[in-house]
Amino acid sequence: MEIDAHAHQKSKSTQILIGVHTIGIHPWELTLPFSRSEFDKKWEKLIERTEGIYAIGECGLDRIHEGIADIEDQKYVLMKHFELALERKLPIILHSVRTYSDALEILKKTKFPHNILMHAFGGNDHEMHELLKYPVYFSYGARLFKTDKMLKVTPLDKLLLETGDQLEYSISDIYKFSAESLGIKGSELEEKLYNNFLTFFNKLDDISASDFIKDLNTRKSRT
Ligand SMILES: [Zn+2]
Repeated sequence: MEIDAHAHQKSKSTQILIGVHTIGIHPWELTLPFSRSEFDKKWEKLIERTEGIYAIGECGLDRIHEGIADIEDQKYVLMKHFELALERKLPIILHSVRTYSDALEILKKTKFPHNILMHAFGGNDHEMHELLKYPVYFSYGARLFKTDKMLKVTPLDKLLLETGDQLEYSISDIYKFSAESLGIKGSELEEKLYNNFLTFFNKLDDISASDFIKDLNTRKSRT
């Protein structure tokens, strides 16, 4: 089974659909003028809908995207997500662009004990090394076709794959490319990432695993 760990588009694969199986506010949504009190109101409404949610996110920090709240306001928003994840004991899905040291600071400060998915990871060796001091998983998508350097150094038990927000490549294309790049069989990669996915969501035992996978697929088709 090819698991898509971070998807914005519905597909036939078993996937974590952002906004369906998760809740959060993406940093790109923090448009200007940004007001913390307006945000707080929106946040209170949003967190009424956490039932049946498997993760908090996609949330995060972005120093490149233009026309959004400054980094201090982004951190304020991200801390709300971390507090919610701590309260509900849920993993978190992070968007991080040129902000790995900021993200590390928050991980240090909160001593966050749940799993963290660095989706579409674009950091370097050093950043990965630092992040691996926490329960961080790394997911890669279509950018792999440009460079697979970090894929090759990611511990296999911390790896996930995703389609993200693009439509050009299917999750199968991404699995096929990754298996070749890692020099392992497609079936072996599928099995490993299936286990990683269940471990990430703490659903590794047989009963919760099958319920979890069933729920991901049925809830997607209803929406
Ligand atoms: Zn995303």
